[in-house]
Amino acid sequence: MINLKDFEVWFVTGSQHLYGEETLKKVAEHSEQIAKSLNGHSLIPVKVIFKPVVKTPEEILQLCQEASVSIKCIGIITWMHTFSPAKMWIGGLKVLSKPLLHLHTQFNRDIPWSEIDMDFMNLNQSAHGDREFGFIMSRMRLSRKVVVGHWQDEEVIKSLEVWLRAACGWHDWQGGKFCRLGDNMRQVAVTEGDKVEAEIKFGYSVNGFGMGDLVKVINEVGDEEANELMMVYEDAYVLSDSLKENAANRSSLKEAARIEIGLLNFLHAGNFKGFTDTFEDLNGLSQLPGIAVQRLMAHEYGFGAEGDWKTCALVRAMKVMASGLKGGNSFMEDYTYHFASGNNMVLGAHMLEICESIADGKARCEIHPLGIGGKADPVRLVFNVGGGPALNASLVDMGNRFRLLVNEVEAVQPEHALPKLPVARALWKPLPDMKTACAAWILAGGAHHTCYSQNLTTEHLHDFSEMAGIELVRIGKSSTLNQIKNELRWNEGYYK
Ligand code: MN
Repeated sequence: MINLKDFEVWFVTGSQHLYGEETLKKVAEHSEQIAKSLNGHSLIPVKVIFKPVVKTPEEILQLCQEASVSIKCIGIITWMHTFSPAKMWIGGLKVLSKPLLHLHTQFNRDIPWSEIDMDFMNLNQSAHGDREFGFIMSRMRLSRKVVVGHWQDEEVIKSLEVWLRAACGWHDWQGGKFCRLGDNMRQVAVTEGDKVEAEIKFGYSVNGFGMGDLVKVINEVGDEEANELMMVYEDAYVLSDSLKENAANRSSLKEAARIEIGLLNFLHAGNFKGFTDTFEDLNGLSQLPGIAVQRLMAHEYGFGAEGDWKTCALVRAMKVMASGLKGGNSFMEDYTYHFASGNNMVLGAHMLEICESIADGKARCEIHPLGIGGKADPVRLVFNVGGGPALNASLVDMGNRFRLLVNEVEAVQPEHALPKLPVARALWKPLPDMKTACAAWILAGGAHHTCYSQNLTTEHLHDFSEMAGIELVRIGKSSTLNQIKNELRWNEGYYK
């Protein structure tokens, strides 16, 4: 499992030599205190590393160079306790390749009304020092997040947390490898895209492998390993009678276990962070991987069905961002609708591959025919997804750019039993309402495949899109169709 505490954010305070040793000493003390306080806060997911106060162009350049090549550093948080003439920052900012958050804070929360003097004013200058720093970043057209408020304020810390989580997802993509087993589902448009552009823009690579490469690894899986995994299934899930020991379909369960072990070994050997498959290329596999994919996603692998590498990579990034949070993230598909006046809903599901991290309660492990692909009946986990706020995110290739589309939804607990539906399923009401949300989604070119999240917000994905330098379109509570249409038109001009 991913442990975000393996990663670091560097806390960097800017100043200059003009103030003299005494003031600079205080600046350093204060900065260290803030860094330590953040580092010890339960909401902050990564290590916060205090860096010595930077006072010259040379120090700033060196720090930015070190941050850019550090394997552990996911980004830097900057703060100008005092005034730090911003031309000093140009050289460093030009080479900085990590995300930057500008924390516009002040060491003292309150003005000490009866005691304030010019010494206090000289020390607590971020109100104008941070403006000077902000100018140079705007002048250089650098994207960053600006967070305003006292460093102990809970809202400020929550904004930092969100950005840090997004930066972890972004960091994970850099040099990340995704594996495509088989090509695309034939003739499908939205799952296609420019893999070369994605590697340039996003830092991860997507490469194809033949099913034979995987089948070879699956064939090497021993009996004992498969039996052990079946015991894990028996513990974790409610098994259908036909899958129990000595029952008719026990051999299918064993085959599913062998597929899971083989897939995991294959992904591990190739150092892959996620994978795609397609039911149109299962050469050598007896069944479409179902439970295997569901469980591998729960182990934080990205996944996209039908060759959908964009959703696969997005699922992985969102799993990294959400690491340690309650709730889950899953590959998802808008499947079918409930068009009932005043109670419109989407039923989300897939042929099989919904991640068990979003399951409400203990899943059932079942076997049913697939009705597509002409293979043996696949074993899968069947469960409901609980209610509450959630979102769907889709990354599409618009030809001249990537667009990240987010629809905030309200998930609802199914009111009816679905005894004949043999797949995991989620029900949700899109915001602001079904008609607006679906029209906006379709106009924006959003895919039928998404990453469904129970624990990330649009703010996470907004911060993420800024790091990636791509367009983000939000469909949420306050959205109107007119506003979305205008935004799409204006963005068309902006990204030209
Ligand atoms: Mn699909």
